[in-house]
Amino acid sequence: MNDCIFCRIVSGEIPATKVWDDDNCVVFMDIFPVSRGHILIVPKKHVDNFVSLPVELILPLFAAAQKVATATVRAAGAPAFNLTINNGRESGQEVFHLHLHVIPRTAGDGLKTWPKISYVEDEAVALSAKIKSELEKV
Ligand code: 5GP
Ligand code: ZN
Repeated sequence: MNDCIFCRIVSGEIPATKVWDDDNCVVFMDIFPVSRGHILIVPKKHVDNFVSLPVELILPLFAAAQKVATATVRAAGAPAFNLTINNGRESGQEVFHLHLHVIPRTAGDGLKTWPKISYVEDEAVALSAKIKSELEKV
């Protein structure tokens, strides 16, 4: 038995409040929403995280997110939304089947944006050099 909760939702083995699906993706309401209308866009194929997503599934996943986010924020009466992916346990990922969150946002909704930090001296330049070096290996 597949013990991935989102695979079980994809297969219909356990229920979810679905709003849309196509050949590649399923979209359903988050069971513990951050805001009203919080939805999850999930590839039908099991992949643990964004890095593992086959490149040919990126377009279908983001196309589904764009379409359903447009409808969801209209339905929720929200002028804005956050589109996020938690990638890895330390980022807050709890379900290790990739999913995009669409979280409708309204003025004064009380949800904070992330706090900012500052780089010291040439730290950003040094880090960018490391990123460029790693890019050659990806
Ligand atoms: P993550 O923290 O992994 O980025 O987000 C997982 C999301 O899945 C959470 O927002 C959580 O509320 C939602 N979730 C977890 N289990 C279920 C479930 O069984 N059904 C639905 N619809 N959402 C779930
Ligand atoms: Zn899965």
